Amino acid sequence: MAKRFIDTEIWNNTWFMDLLPIEKIMFFYIVTKCDYVGVWNPNFRLASFVINSEWDLNWNELLKKTKGNIEVLENGKWFLPDFCKFQYGELSEQSRPHQTYIKKLKEYGLLNRVVVNNKSNTMSAKRKRLTQKKKDEILSKYKYECQYCGEKNCDMVVDHITPLIKGGDNSDDNLICTCVSCNSRKSDLSLQEFYDNNNGVYKNLDRVYNILNTLKEKEKEKEKEKDKEKDKKHKYGEFKNVLLTDKEVEKLKSDYGNDRALELINKLDEGIELKGYKYKNHNLAIRKWYPVDTEYKNNKKELKLKEEYGF
Ligand SMILES: [Zn+2]
Repeated sequence: MAKRFIDTEIWNNTWFMDLLPIEKIMFFYIVTKCDYVGVWNPNFRLASFVINSEWDLNWNELLKKTKGNIEVLENGKWFLPDFCKFQYGELSEQSRPHQTYIKKLKEYGLLNRVVVNNKSNTMSAKRKRLTQKKKDEILSKYKYECQYCGEKNCDMVVDHITPLIKGGDNSDDNLICTCVSCNSRKSDLSLQEFYDNNNGVYKNLDRVYNILNTLKEKEKEKEKEKDKEKDKKHKYGEFKNVLLTDKEVEKLKSDYGNDRALELINKLDEGIELKGYKYKNHNLAIRKWYPVDTEYKNNKKELKLKEEYGF
């Protein structure tokens, strides 16, 4: 049994609002009965029978009123042009389920109607196939229990929490055991999108919610680490005596200009090396020293001018 997404915004579209109730049912009938690339082979008698309407169904009127959301192909089949984009996002030649859709679209001559992304060669390098050993390892790590819905008694597969197409990788942290149904529903969605689209609708996704929170916590930790790194002092100068954080160096450069900042850092470095200067705070030392050094330099320039030109 195939499962499909429904656009929760569909009720806000004016063309949809303008449909009669029966026409809305007819539209949903097509959305659910079309194949996996959005092509429906119309069988109006069957459709009318299944919809079981007391009114006559006017399919031509539906075509007109859906304003380009349904097209009639040359072979008489009906096509939902936005179907693939909505169900699967941008199709990618690197994605195995997408390859099936692309093949089907090619058969219909409809491939040019759908956006296909084939530029990510870097991704195919990343998409090294998981070995069976790796898969087994991940599945048994999670005791063959779907980590998204809790299902235990069905076929399990390995899912990329962050899909490769969205920058995920094959690291253990990104691999998880899920049931086939959760895996196909998630497809190339991020975990957050999967949760937003399916919670309460499909199954209770408390587990996904928890995984999301854990991921967010990890992300925060990483940010903290980065901040710590920014506050870490590094060694500067030829003799590596000057200790400054990256932030401090950037600020010195922006305040005094690149060359002057480096010059001051080197002077302090030399001073420490030669004379054993001791400062608790090297950044402050440079900043205190800057006006003194500048004045000294200017005086020296003046003296030199006097010496050379006598004024
Ligand atoms: Zn599941």
